[in-house]
Amino acid sequence: MPLEDRGLQFGESVYEVIAVARGDPFRLADHVERMRRGASEIGLAEGVPSLSSWGSIIADLHRHEPHPSAILYAQITGGTAPRSHVPKPPPRPFFFAYLRRFAFPTADATAHGIAAVMLADQRWQRSDLKTVMLLPAVLARKEALARGAEEVILVGQDGFVNEGAVSNVFAVRGGAVTAPPASTRNLAGITGMVVEEICREVGLPFSVGPLAANDLRKVDELFVASTTALLMPVVRIDDFPVGGGSPGRITLRLAQRFRDMLWGPAGPPL
Ligand code: PMP
Repeated sequence: MPLEDRGLQFGESVYEVIAVARGDPFRLADHVERMRRGASEIGLAEGVPSLSSWGSIIADLHRHEPHPSAILYAQITGGTAPRSHVPKPPPRPFFFAYLRRFAFPTADATAHGIAAVMLADQRWQRSDLKTVMLLPAVLARKEALARGAEEVILVGQDGFVNEGAVSNVFAVRGGAVTAPPASTRNLAGITGMVVEEICREVGLPFSVGPLAANDLRKVDELFVASTTALLMPVVRIDDFPVGGGSPGRITLRLAQRFRDMLWGPAGPPL
């Protein structure tokens, strides 16, 4: 990587993480579309490869490294130029991608759930863009790990949940699934999009609505969703149990359906 890459020096960069199950990139078109939208917002649209070339890049990587269970990491940066906030002429965007073997959470891990902590959301005001300016997320997760938790529930100044540090947040109340609304403080997750589809498919009510941080401990079930965590129950927030301290029935049903979509009933090969 050149030292004066603008992704490295300025964070001028968007990225995607895509699950590759049985050689197949899950929801590739949705990831490419999200990257295209993010890249456009920061002026890098011309660097995003077309959907058809993504397919062949991934197929190629997979042929060389046929991991049954992997993630594709893809990033587009502002390219390289002598360091200046606004170089003239602007350099060409730079795209790279690689495949990495990845151990997704096992069904047992999902059945166990995770603890989370609640922290103030300290990120910039365009968290709907998947940029590499991840320092606030890194620091928040370090704090979570130091406190024996896995994930962070990020709360806005208005007292409402935005999302997780690396996931989207969903609550189950009275048999219905609720997610905080799409906003500039909340990344439109691909996994979350599928959660909504599964709810519709199995006839579970799904709604979008504000989730007050103060109400979180009172919900029936809580879970987070992301490409790498899949659907993961949250059973404790700070020092309080959620949903009686164990994963809820609806969460586990949705989580299993999601796993089936990726790998079939057998789950990911070890
Ligand atoms: N929000 C944030 C801040 C994330 O980092 C992620 C993980 N990429 C998500 C939500 C979930 O997005 P996805 O389901 O597309 O992985």
